[in-house]
Amino acid sequence: MSDKLKSKSYLAAAALVAFLLLAVSVPAKDTPPIRIRVDLREAPRHIFHAQLEIPAVPGPLTLFYPQWIPGEHGPTGPIADLTGLKLTSAGKPLVWRRDAVNMYAFHCEVPAGADSVEVSLDYLSPGNAEGFSGSPAATAQLAVLEWNLVLLYPQGRPSDELTYVATLRLPAGWKFGTALEVARESADGVEFRAVTLTTLVDSPVIAGAYFRGVPLSHGQTPEHRLDLAGDSAAAVTISPQQVASYAQLVAEAGALFGARHYGHYDFLLALSDHVNSFGLEHHQSSDNRAPERMLLDPNLQVIFADLLPHEFVHSWNGKYRRPRGLLSPDYQQPMRGELLWVYEGLTEYLGEVLAARSGLLTPELYREILAWVAAYLDQRPGRTWRPLEDTAVAAQVLYNARDEWASWRRSVDFYDESNLIWLEADAIIRRESQGRRSLDDFCRRFHGASAGGDAAAAASSAFRSPVVPYTFDDVVAAMNEIAPYDWRNFFLARLDSTAPHAPLGGLEGSGWRLVFSETPNERLHAAEEARNFVNVQFSLGVIVKRDNSDKDGGRILDVIPGSPAAQAGVAPGLTLVAVNGRHWSPDVLRAAVRDAKGGSEPIELLLENAGYYKTYRVDYHGGERYPHLERDASRPDLLGQIIHPRASPAATAGKEKRSD
Ligand SMILES: [Zn+2]
Repeated sequence: MSDKLKSKSYLAAAALVAFLLLAVSVPAKDTPPIRIRVDLREAPRHIFHAQLEIPAVPGPLTLFYPQWIPGEHGPTGPIADLTGLKLTSAGKPLVWRRDAVNMYAFHCEVPAGADSVEVSLDYLSPGNAEGFSGSPAATAQLAVLEWNLVLLYPQGRPSDELTYVATLRLPAGWKFGTALEVARESADGVEFRAVTLTTLVDSPVIAGAYFRGVPLSHGQTPEHRLDLAGDSAAAVTISPQQVASYAQLVAEAGALFGARHYGHYDFLLALSDHVNSFGLEHHQSSDNRAPERMLLDPNLQVIFADLLPHEFVHSWNGKYRRPRGLLSPDYQQPMRGELLWVYEGLTEYLGEVLAARSGLLTPELYREILAWVAAYLDQRPGRTWRPLEDTAVAAQVLYNARDEWASWRRSVDFYDESNLIWLEADAIIRRESQGRRSLDDFCRRFHGASAGGDAAAAASSAFRSPVVPYTFDDVVAAMNEIAPYDWRNFFLARLDSTAPHAPLGGLEGSGWRLVFSETPNERLHAAEEARNFVNVQFSLGVIVKRDNSDKDGGRILDVIPGSPAAQAGVAPGLTLVAVNGRHWSPDVLRAAVRDAKGGSEPIELLLENAGYYKTYRVDYHGGERYPHLERDASRPDLLGQIIHPRASPAATAGKEKRSD
């Protein structure tokens, strides 16, 4: 839905928050910075120690632990893992009391004569947990420090107006990478230059015993680096070809947006099987986490080809330009996700386009990804009750929703489905302008220098990351400036739809159509191999996970409502024991689908449900089905034009500087 629905009560709530912020007594603006000392020497034991010195004045003081984490789009601050909290002031212990309603707020009374409060706390990094920055962040060999995990801040000022001086101590021999600038280094650790709380929380550190810093700009400004930390020496081995592709990514992003809004950029990449795989965007860096062999294993290279491009795009789309509802001034004010189809959806589209333009994805793989996305969204019955926009509004609850019944619940579909919608928008701009304009022109206007930021300031080390907020109306207006069209209704129709099929107009409009064949989809197959599951959702209608050894049963992850498996009564959560009387494996299951083609006997699945065994007879005879894109020769191949490279690393960096 559009921004026009932003209610008056929301504005009233914002005004109330502003009033409360002003009503609390806070130290004058020229007070010394907050000091934070983080000790990661016990990170391999999953304990992060921190001490803070917070300037304060006598009287009541409230300290907050960050709750609404930028980029995570939800109240995900891992408050349960904040432990060992002790406060002192003027050399004496201070009693604290947690707020009875806000679990992230701690109240205390600063004694007369005191001018600061000292805080010591421990963050317990989980060994195994779902989630993003609050998920496992340390192994025996590496750690990723998102500063929001280990700090408190005083109530009373937005994060832009609080200054922190951070120091960090690492296990002996570990090296680190970060977008923060180093003030001094000694045997006791490293001290970073003073930054605002906003920038500190926006500037994670990656560190490890196996560390490698790879320059990607080759002496040109701004500087870009790839900071690798892995669980082994092999993990941080990167080929010259991979370095060239990531350097090309830097160049292609410059050619796309026409301006950069940072002084320098660090891709942080943790390579471990003991941290969750995800990416978290920041303005001048990104926190990327992937399996230990991501740079070595061809299947993992396919799956993670767009990880760094996606997070990099966020520096423009998400950080520099951000939906007004996702701008939280203090990590306490709730965020609103209704424009995540732009924040995440356009980023998903551009991340894959840039991966293809920079050589991280071949054109064939790019099309296989699109085919897979189009096919699974087109076979998603949840879309008949839940419009796409609701997946964005409900992002904060959907991120950690279970796999079971995802096809009926829907998931964070505003990533993949918006990919299709922005492709369609790109194709329409190209068509309406007779090939003179494209979505690239929108990006240049909306995310480049003309958006209102001061790109030249990015060269200064004192640069403060700018944010230019936007609304739905701003998106529509900027699209109309590129190519006049009914963009408002184009987007609303796709956001509000409860039609049974996915928006596939972008595929057709760019000269391709979705087809199915018995040949495995390359992107899907890479994921099946790397993640140990089998996906026959386009034939039988089930996805099965192989948990441990071959002797174990397979866990039914999802069943597509209306599919042959669903009609036979199969449900997620059951365990697949045997197929046609033979112990199950992915190959046995696929062979049964092949063998049943054209026959009349049902496929028999023996399933265990909480200790009871039952045979389900699945009446399916259509053979294996996997999605692909097929060229429609009656239309121009716009898809080929969209993913065609636009820049070369050497030429672009020089040009870009002049055009800024
Ligand atoms: Zn993202």
